[in-house]
Amino acid sequence: MLGLLRRWFTRPTPEFDPAWEPMLLEKYAHWSTLEGGELERMKMLTARFIADNDWEAAQGMEITTDVQVLVAAQAAMLLLGLEIDEYFDVTSIIMHKSTVRLRGVRRGAAGTMRDGVQHLAGQATPKGPVVLSWAAVKRGASRSGGGDNVVYHEFAHRLDMLDGFTDGTPPLGSEEAAARWAQVCTPAYERVQAGDSVLRGYAATNIAEFFAVATEAFFNRPEVLAEHERDLYDELRRFFGQDPARRIQSSPT
Ligand SMILES: [Zn+2]
Repeated sequence: MLGLLRRWFTRPTPEFDPAWEPMLLEKYAHWSTLEGGELERMKMLTARFIADNDWEAAQGMEITTDVQVLVAAQAAMLLLGLEIDEYFDVTSIIMHKSTVRLRGVRRGAAGTMRDGVQHLAGQATPKGPVVLSWAAVKRGASRSGGGDNVVYHEFAHRLDMLDGFTDGTPPLGSEEAAARWAQVCTPAYERVQAGDSVLRGYAATNIAEFFAVATEAFFNRPEVLAEHERDLYDELRRFFGQDPARRIQSSPT
């Protein structure tokens, strides 16, 4: 609580610098689809995200303004239609240059435990920093990575964790909404497990990964998701309060 109060009282008024926009138009495929009130809110959220977080470099990485802006804009995309302006428990971002190398014991297939170095595009843990690979951030922003997006993925996990559970269900506001969410997501998750889905196979890992991968597809391949998983698309559209498929259709690019 003290931390929150301190942040509140010392928080500078973040300003979106117009000089950031050419880089976003060039490197972030979604930016050119935004207009009007959505564009203005994205600018506010992007500037706030940069100001609210500590930025740390690992592995010979350098934190430049371009790095901050490209990460912040993609993290802001998930908040665009939500009633919150920030990821409350996220206070620091750690950037690695290529893959994120983490050493430790982890759960493997069929209940086994494995020890060793993991190479990841990113990592989000409850209340900890969000760790990202800059190479993966750039790939996801340009949509040249086949629809994967590490920023959407890790920040979807952080939205999922807001209610204290990493269970693939972000805070939905009512029991009725939670029941409908389960009704739609359960069969969609079963289709991924059966190998019968447009979502990439990693979504079958568990229901939390299902939500993170579905979020990537919702923003990066919305037309495909809307065509093949209409109920899931509509459920995510309701939750995120935005319609990326419509935005892409009506965009000139
Ligand atoms: Zn994940």
